[in-house]
Amino acid sequence: MLTAIGEDTGRDGLADTPRRVAESLTYLTDGYGVDPRSVVRGALYEHAGDEPVTVRNLPFYSLCEHHLLPMFGRCHIGYVPAGKVIGLSKLPRLLNLYAHRLQLQERLTRQLAEAIEGILNARGVAVVIEARHLCVEMRGVERGESETVTSCILGAYRTDAALRAEFMEPTRPTP
Ligand SMILES: [Zn+2]
Repeated sequence: MLTAIGEDTGRDGLADTPRRVAESLTYLTDGYGVDPRSVVRGALYEHAGDEPVTVRNLPFYSLCEHHLLPMFGRCHIGYVPAGKVIGLSKLPRLLNLYAHRLQLQERLTRQLAEAIEGILNARGVAVVIEARHLCVEMRGVERGESETVTSCILGAYRTDAALRAEFMEPTRPTP
């Protein structure tokens, strides 16, 4: 890459750049080949209640698969338990598992929702992701900040409008 853009690969500042780029890319894509169930092992708890659980504003960083440029933002997760709940610290780990791959925001949203649904056998799962895409902001005409919102709504959140409204309402960005 350095040669292709016309850089002098012999200059000091770039001496360790290939190694650093390789290391950071390895870290940012360490979500491949990880079984989501292994991430939550030991953190599923029996729970009789069926009130929704909502976790808001989980930060994440990912790379778009088209340009390998960052997309990043916040993720909001809701689920309606059916017999078990998940340790709250495991939700950001599940999010990272899918964010640390080359992604489309739409696919990241759905993969996370389906993983939570599958692992918890939940009555419903809702995931909303608000993200900025540097491939949009840094290139071409659409400069400046814009936010893309995606959602994946499964089970009870699809059929129960009040449940869905309770989840969606406070996720609107505050002015
Ligand atoms: Zn892109």
